[in-house]
Amino acid sequence: MKYIPTIGLEIHAELKTQTKMFCDCKNDPEERRPNINVCPVCLAHPGTLPVANRAAIEHVLLVGMALKGDIPASSKFDRKNYFYPDLPKGYQISQYDVPLVFGGMLKGVRLTRVHLEEDTGRLSHSADRIAQSEKTSNDSRLARSNPNYQLPITSYSLVDFNRAGVPLMELVTEPDIKDADQAVAFAKELQLILRYLGVSDADMEKGQMRVEANVSLGTIVDGLLKLGTKVEVKNIASFKAVHDTIEYELKRQAEVLESGEKVKQETRGWDDVKRATVSQRSKEDAHDYRYFPEPDIPPLDMNKFDLAAIKLLLPELPQEKRVRFVKEYGLSDAQIETLVQDRDMAAFFENSISELETEDTENLARETQLIINYLSSDIRGALAEWGIGFGGIKLTPENFADLIELISHEKITSRTAKDLLNEMIQNGGDPNTLLKEKGLEQVSDEGALMTVVDKVIVANPKPVSDYKAGKMNALQFLVGMAMKELKGTGHPKTLSELFISKLK
Ligand code: ADP
Ligand code: MG
Ligand code: ZN
Repeated sequence: MKYIPTIGLEIHAELKTQTKMFCDCKNDPEERRPNINVCPVCLAHPGTLPVANRAAIEHVLLVGMALKGDIPASSKFDRKNYFYPDLPKGYQISQYDVPLVFGGMLKGVRLTRVHLEEDTGRLSHSADRIAQSEKTSNDSRLARSNPNYQLPITSYSLVDFNRAGVPLMELVTEPDIKDADQAVAFAKELQLILRYLGVSDADMEKGQMRVEANVSLGTIVDGLLKLGTKVEVKNIASFKAVHDTIEYELKRQAEVLESGEKVKQETRGWDDVKRATVSQRSKEDAHDYRYFPEPDIPPLDMNKFDLAAIKLLLPELPQEKRVRFVKEYGLSDAQIETLVQDRDMAAFFENSISELETEDTENLARETQLIINYLSSDIRGALAEWGIGFGGIKLTPENFADLIELISHEKITSRTAKDLLNEMIQNGGDPNTLLKEKGLEQVSDEGALMTVVDKVIVANPKPVSDYKAGKMNALQFLVGMAMKELKGTGHPKTLSELFISKLK
């Protein structure tokens, strides 16, 4: 390819803290009733003072540690000045030259920084905008002649400050990303890490995580990469949109360059309906934010934070889990990913494994596979159906391991296993006891089985002669009839052996 794609991401995530970034209001961006969680501080009344939320700072430090970034000896907040109706103060408290975290690395992409700021409020615009100049001039004539006359409101915006002042972390990458798939993989891994750390739910559809993509096409000049003009795309609300935005921009920019034009440096927005990026503002009217240090918050002395204690909060991270699971359990990549994506399931998996009795490696491997298979199909399916998590099931890892052993030693059929499992997920219980109660224990006692085999042979002369004539299907039919007779509690392999010896 003639052009070299270059992508850098800026990712915002709302942090999960009890209170907002600079006041005691509840941090609850999901609150549907407008302007419930507000106070003079986050509404920017004169004379109020912001106080930085320690938990939010510690959340970002934890992210920095997880991503192997550097934490400076001191940090500070800065004012980023701009006007917009969702920003009560007329500036956003953010961080400019000394973020909480410098550098770091994720999936081979170098990180520039991670800093802390506050979220804005939310605007909702009325759908019906009637802009008839006739009507407007008529209204103002009426308004002048009648002091009680109220202008009819046809177009308006409502503002909700519940989200104003919610702690927001911003992570910026170096322009190291080469294509749409890599960008999506990066964003997904970051989302997973934020969830592992418990610092954000990072749901893109809810706006808890927002991705901005900087995209350019460079060229090779004298063997060196010369970066192209970048376009920044905002308003990307899903992983699919991240992917499609980047693909679209790379194609659009290539067409611009092919036609002999230059790519304009601008901010564009992703339009999910048009499935295209659209120009929002050009570099000419780019913001000058006039950053300056926030005078109302003293600089942060990072020695006042117990970094060693914060570090102890680091859980096993997704990548560490992958590496360990490969080593310890010999699972396939897909199986490992299922577990890494769902930490509760992974914990249940490991707890169940540790309840297995076997010392034999072959047994252990077989039972491990049974555990992962039942977990990722039957159990996951049941939980999804009932809308509960692993916290809500009555099944314990210990009882589940017992069930797996019964299956593994062919004491029960897979049909019985499924029934028992359903029962155990809903009501708990130990499978051995349940089996006795329900009389479902697999019959492998040859005497009992022989009676049934004899009965089936007498009742099915045609299949018997077919089998004797060499038709193997007939044997399966006979085993099936015997299983039916035993209501599924028979042992198919033993039955088959009995028929073979009997019909020799
Ligand atoms: P700005 O000042 O316009 O915000 P920054 O230098 O802060 O630009 O970079 C913002 C993001 O854009 C970063 O993720 C960075 O890696 C990325 N970026 C910078 N230059 C380019 C480029 N030429 N192509 C693609 N991304 C770029
Ligand atoms: Mg920027
Ligand atoms: Zn408040």
